[in-house]
Amino acid sequence: MKSDNKQNLILGIVAVALMAGIAWVSLRGTQPVDESASAGKAADVLSPTIFDDEKTRASYQVAKDIPDVLEQLPCFCGCMTSFGHKNNLFCFKDQHGSGCTICQDIALDAKKMHDQGMPIAQIQDNIKTKYSRYQP
Ligand SMILES: [Zn+2]
Repeated sequence: MKSDNKQNLILGIVAVALMAGIAWVSLRGTQPVDESASAGKAADVLSPTIFDDEKTRASYQVAKDIPDVLEQLPCFCGCMTSFGHKNNLFCFKDQHGSGCTICQDIALDAKKMHDQGMPIAQIQDNIKTKYSRYQP
């Protein structure tokens, strides 16, 4: 009788722990933190509609769509040293990206690779290989 109670207690603890674990995992899965952070980054990007040039507009649109990806990519137009840009996303927070082919090409290329499901590490490698020679 006594040992039965003990077993039930242990089973109960295991069940509670399992449920807590499931709740924790599902909470983590639905946490909106990442999304709002990404929306915040997108909000910093200039509106693509203010540009007439098709390619310029497309690249600002990429910055709006996948700020998380551009944020992890370097820019090789020289802006990282001359303007203190920390990554390619910075180029689209102001007009800088509108006059810079390299910034645009990096963003458009990254979008293409991202759409193919390429992991970020590989996108970074490809961008570095392709554009580092343009660095002034
Ligand atoms: Zn740039």
